[in-house]
Amino acid sequence: MTRRILVTGGGSGIGRVVARAFAAEGDHVTITGRRIKALQDTAAGFDMDCRTADVTDEAQVQALFDAPFDVVIANAGGGVAGKLRSVTLDDWNATLAVNMTGTFLVFREALHQMPSGGRLIAMASTASLKGGATIPAYAAAKHGVLGLVRSVAQEVAKKGITCNAVCPGFVETSLAEAAISAVSKRFDLDRDAAIAEVVSGNPMGRLIAPDEVSAAVMFLASPAASMVNGHALSVAGGEI
Ligand code: NAD
Repeated sequence: MTRRILVTGGGSGIGRVVARAFAAEGDHVTITGRRIKALQDTAAGFDMDCRTADVTDEAQVQALFDAPFDVVIANAGGGVAGKLRSVTLDDWNATLAVNMTGTFLVFREALHQMPSGGRLIAMASTASLKGGATIPAYAAAKHGVLGLVRSVAQEVAKKGITCNAVCPGFVETSLAEAAISAVSKRFDLDRDAAIAEVVSGNPMGRLIAPDEVSAAVMFLASPAASMVNGHALSVAGGEI
């Protein structure tokens, strides 16, 4: 049976790789994000639907769910780095909005129609499981995402639906690239030294490939994970 899959933030990075992995399996994939060109670039060569929506906008999220999805991946997210004293209220609100409110809106709408056997998967982070000196807003938001996942998992358990989180460390995407540039500038390091600094908390000592994250998402969406519910699956080389 062809499953209907929704991936938010599908125009780049992890979301792009996840969307293509499902499409390559023969699933029917819809990707959403704010920029149509980025979505079309992801879909090139694949049979995917591209739909623009901002996950922080309730009406735009509701409009995505004109038919049920079997697997919904709340992947859109991000945030700026900085110590607490430099975090503006706008930065704080924007970080909570995309990571936490976005996941809430997407999961809530998904559940109105999700069939038994459905899967809700949040792209959380190692920052859902531990803090970091320069990511107070991002870590607060990603901890919130995990609280939501664990609660929804309890709610949907009897309906044959599961709700889980994937928690990557530093993955090779533009988001990690921004962290590498910031470290490079701040400590006057060349790129290799900045990468080494960024991944120093990962015992495997390297950036994570996006397809190592998509493999975890594919597992949580597979029949093999039918009894995995409310779980935070770290993809972080032993960091957690
Ligand atoms: P990315 O910046 O390439 O992807 C984030 C995507 O979300 C982008 O396509 C962006 O346009 C989209 N997005 C942002 N705000 C949005 C909004 N309001 N509405 C709709 N779409 C929006 O970076 P990525 O690394 O691929 O990040 C994907 C997810 O993985 C994020 O939730 C991020 O927090 C998480 N994550 C990333 C890393 C990492 O090191 N790259 C580590 C742990 C978790």
